Amino acid sequence: MNIQWYPGHMTKAKRAMQEDIKLIDLIIELVDARAPLSSRNPDIDDLGRGKARMVLLNKADLASEAGNAAWTRYFEAKGFQVMKIDARQKASLKQIHSVIQEACKEKIERDRRRGILNRPVRAMVAGIPNVGKSTFINSFAGKAAAKTGNKPGVTKGNQWIRLNKQVELLDTPGILWPKFEDQSVGLKLAFLGSINDEILNKDELAAELCAFLLKAYPGLLAERYGIPEDRSPHELLEQIAIARSCLLKGGGYDVPRAARLLLEDFRSGKLGRITLEFPE
Ligand code: GDP
Repeated sequence: MNIQWYPGHMTKAKRAMQEDIKLIDLIIELVDARAPLSSRNPDIDDLGRGKARMVLLNKADLASEAGNAAWTRYFEAKGFQVMKIDARQKASLKQIHSVIQEACKEKIERDRRRGILNRPVRAMVAGIPNVGKSTFINSFAGKAAAKTGNKPGVTKGNQWIRLNKQVELLDTPGILWPKFEDQSVGLKLAFLGSINDEILNKDELAAELCAFLLKAYPGLLAERYGIPEDRSPHELLEQIAIARSCLLKGGGYDVPRAARLLLEDFRSGKLGRITLEFPE
């Protein structure tokens, strides 16, 4: 399956990031907890050189506990402050201010030595499309605050949302471009619904997801749909169509509908908490 990307977007996104990054002390990087490497652009390490860094494993509610724990260890070993969150739930952000202070310890200490006291940390949220940046900013900063920069007709300058005495947040997130020269990265992002669906063949995609689940989560499809698993991925889609009565008007089974249903069940967590990749 061939997944396309458009370099025009990339160049523009990169330029915008480079400009915004000059203004800040801390990068709050969001990745999708179900595929933290595939949903991350490692170029951020170059772009963000010299900045304090944090990684938020977002959508942790949809990823397996074992995956979340493994990825927390992985990023901590790389020297990042890490938190797993569900950006829709304010309660999952309780620890964040202390984690921010921890991530910015060196900057705060440097300021103190220069006699600068109480200068707020300036932070920006960054990540590839669909990782939950806007949802996070809304939960973290409050809906009203996050909206002010996006109103039509308001010139988009850089607006800072003052969260408290210690932290100011850039109201628009930095958009990173996915890194998928590697087809397996593109495929995982497609499973997650994080790249434009319209350009993809959903039947192919769902068959690929079946193949992945058979291997990594044996028994799951059997349990969810009550179907036998000793079939090819395409036959499994047909089995799902039968099990869910996806019928065509003229007779026969509506496999494309079963494909959409499977993708939707996966993306919404109805198939359970599924991590697509683990650290080596
Ligand atoms: P952005 O493109 O990075 O700004 O992503 P959005 O904030 O628009 O979020 C993309 C989708 O993911 C939306 O449908 C959100 O409701 C959903 N979403 C964001 N964070 C979470 C999370 O932690 N858990 C779950 N289950 N869904 C989330």
